[in-house]
Amino acid sequence: MQAISPFRLAPYFRTRIWGFPDLAPWFDFKTEGEPIGEVWLTGEMCVAATGPLQGTSLSEITSQHGAAILGAGHAGEEFPLLIKILFPKEKLSVQVHPDDALAQKFGEPRGKTECWYALDARPGAKVALGIKQGATDDQVRASIDAANLEDLLDWLPVEKGDMIYVDAGTVHAIGPGAVLLETQQTSDLTYRMYDYGRPRELHLEKSFEAMRLQTSAGKVAPRNENDHQVLIDEKYFRVERWNLAVGVKAEALTQPQPYVQMIFVAEGAVTVSGDGFDPFVVERCQLAVIPAASGPWSIQPKGAAEIMRIVPQSL
Ligand SMILES: [Zn+2]
Repeated sequence: MQAISPFRLAPYFRTRIWGFPDLAPWFDFKTEGEPIGEVWLTGEMCVAATGPLQGTSLSEITSQHGAAILGAGHAGEEFPLLIKILFPKEKLSVQVHPDDALAQKFGEPRGKTECWYALDARPGAKVALGIKQGATDDQVRASIDAANLEDLLDWLPVEKGDMIYVDAGTVHAIGPGAVLLETQQTSDLTYRMYDYGRPRELHLEKSFEAMRLQTSAGKVAPRNENDHQVLIDEKYFRVERWNLAVGVKAEALTQPQPYVQMIFVAEGAVTVSGDGFDPFVVERCQLAVIPAASGPWSIQPKGAAEIMRIVPQSL
């Protein structure tokens, strides 16, 4: 298999009615048009910003170099994880995603299980995760008709540093006030169940088919492991938090792996270097892809840095 060097991806800004016209201090990005609600970090349209693949989209890179990027045996597959930052200024609609089995019934490759890591949260920030204990399907339907589904949801306060698991089938919503790093299965299957009376289209029948009254969604406590913390370790993804000090080589972080790894910088900045490619900087809120077939690489923080290592599982 050909070697393929680490590279940084350029973010892709998505307009959303619930977003912001200005993403400072997170991104130097302002718009006069529709607000920006999502910044995609591993979207198929994100392009490599460094190295020989510069300007090539992630979907092209994955289709041309699938095995080198994702690992042996994964040629021809889609990039498995979609990582985004969410900037909700208004509350998002109440929605639900199908699991793999239901997605496949509709002819799609996979459903959507996701997790949210709070990069920041203002006091009062909250998310809704699931239907209140004991409520029934009929009560959910009645509360949609009565336009008060939000009262039947389990709302949870969000603090900076929280990791929240949202498995497929969990009815969920995000309120304003938090900035969330979202890691999800690559899928665009979202069924909107309720929109607080806003006029957007709902997908009620599919929502009820996808909805489960009992799920595993909730906050996940971090687990210390050697010199880092495992924030979540679930079927589709694992997210770790590494606090790097100046001069620390973090060799445990840069061990070769047979699968793709994403390095997201939550605080500070790092330089990624190695044999056969020009060193490049990954600033706060940027993401680097470390292909499965990468040669040896290393990471040098510029000052203290907090990074997240995100890897797919069950590839
Ligand atoms: Zn979702």
